[in-house]
Amino acid sequence: MSAVHSVLKDTFGYDAFRGPQQAIVEHVTGGGDALVLMPTGGGKSLCYQIPAIVRQQQGHGVAIVVSPLIALMHDQVGALHEAGVKAAFLNSSLDWQQAQDVEWQMQSGQLTLLYVAPERLVTPRFLGLLDDLFAQGQLALFAIDEAHCVSQWGHDFRPEYRALSVLHERYAGVPRIALTATADDLTRADIVERLHLEQAEQFVSSFDRPNIRYTIVEKKDVTNQLVRLIKNDHEGEAGVVYCLSRRRVEELAQTLQDNGINALPYHAGLPSETRQLHQNRFLREDGIVVVATIAFGMGIDKPDVRFVAHVDMPRNIEGYYQETGRGGRDGLPAHAWMAYGISDVLNQRRMIDEGNADEAFKAALRGKLDALLTLAEATDCRRQRLLQYFGEASQPCGNCDNCLNPPAIWDGTDAARKLLSTIFRVHEMSQLTFGAGHIMDVLRGKVTDKVTQYLHDKISTFGIGKEYSEQQLRGVMRQLLATGALGLHKVTSENSGHVFDTLTLTPQSRVVLRGGMQVLLRESVAATRTRSSKRTS
Ligand code: ADP
Ligand code: ZN
Repeated sequence: MSAVHSVLKDTFGYDAFRGPQQAIVEHVTGGGDALVLMPTGGGKSLCYQIPAIVRQQQGHGVAIVVSPLIALMHDQVGALHEAGVKAAFLNSSLDWQQAQDVEWQMQSGQLTLLYVAPERLVTPRFLGLLDDLFAQGQLALFAIDEAHCVSQWGHDFRPEYRALSVLHERYAGVPRIALTATADDLTRADIVERLHLEQAEQFVSSFDRPNIRYTIVEKKDVTNQLVRLIKNDHEGEAGVVYCLSRRRVEELAQTLQDNGINALPYHAGLPSETRQLHQNRFLREDGIVVVATIAFGMGIDKPDVRFVAHVDMPRNIEGYYQETGRGGRDGLPAHAWMAYGISDVLNQRRMIDEGNADEAFKAALRGKLDALLTLAEATDCRRQRLLQYFGEASQPCGNCDNCLNPPAIWDGTDAARKLLSTIFRVHEMSQLTFGAGHIMDVLRGKVTDKVTQYLHDKISTFGIGKEYSEQQLRGVMRQLLATGALGLHKVTSENSGHVFDTLTLTPQSRVVLRGGMQVLLRESVAATRTRSSKRTS
């Protein structure tokens, strides 16, 4: 048996490698650099733990594992101890004396793996220790876990990861393996560049999580939708509900409790004892629902999370994928449910616009947001779209909302053209841009004070959208915004000083107006059409 197989069996008790593990382990054990993209639960840890053990047996010294999460370090080191592997960690949870002891163990060759936080690794003191080991040929390898943290394009940028380029510069020849469970092309390229992994072999696993069923619904009364989801489909099951704001987390947790659901709030603004308590209850008790901001989840390894719900839309597909990926780690069915509406689009756009990043960066963020919007608006297989985003071709999955209940599609092209021409006419007449509500009123022929004040009942498109319900038109608007065929423009009210969004045409709008683009909407919207519209013709 080869050395790597012996370690797999004798130390970890497994009979076979999984997926690309063997190729990765052999490559790194042989001294090569690697970039590993593998979904959560795929078995990334063994990819560096086995090379660490084998290389130490071969006399190469200690492996240094960079990890951003203290909780994860504890878990991993604990598991390694149980397997009889000499491992330790260095992070802010140790006092000075304990840290000294660990450093001494490392220096005297007693450790096989040392886990270290990135900010600790790049201190002159620690680099000095590494220099000594390097001089003696006692650095077996560097593993950089959660490597997407190095990328500002990723959803979890940690500036201290940037300094890790020092590993390449200072310890040439020591093999490096970077690992992540989420990285689109942009993030992947960024990892390669920032960590100087140009020569590294890339091991890209399938990102498919076949046991996760994806559902994306239109947001109506989201609290009620969520309560029904839990009561009808996930009664007594463990789940995570993601919200954007801390206030929303607390309100929603309360509402769920009022509905007899075992819900606990979690966000960075809660006292650390409360957070710890809620996290522990979630891990140890059955059927707890944690309502959280994205502060919750990284490094929390609970196998039987049966649903992950998003009541607010995340920033991009990577975030969505990572958060939904926390469901069903045990391989049993899990549900990724998201509700989204036009306010999500507007909120996310606003957050980007108001951020203090430069224009190029904002453009990249907008591009990532648009990809998620396209996924949300999709009428075909969600999984196929999701995987496509990560560069993977696949067939319709049979396990997402669109595959299971193919939405009948309604052609909203006519409505879209009427909407866009109304925006054009209104702007042409008043030399001002207006918000969605007012445009809707003009389109549907509603005589409001504002309509009268601006004489918008006199323009040719007044009332041409009468046949559509407000909800239908919102659907059209959302999709036009999602695909960039409608733009937003900020206006400050002269009276109140409030900033609000108004609608503007974009180059894409012309394509729709000219009939060069079809706008397809889901039947749920069309159903409302037959119910609520009074046809005039
Ligand atoms: P990741 O870090 O990619 O999320 P882990 O390294 O935590 O995944 O592994 C996920 C689970 O799969 C762990 O419980 C691990 O023990 C198990 N595992 C990993 N590799 C194998 C293997 N070759 N055979 C059986 N189980 C494995
Ligand atoms: Zn599908």
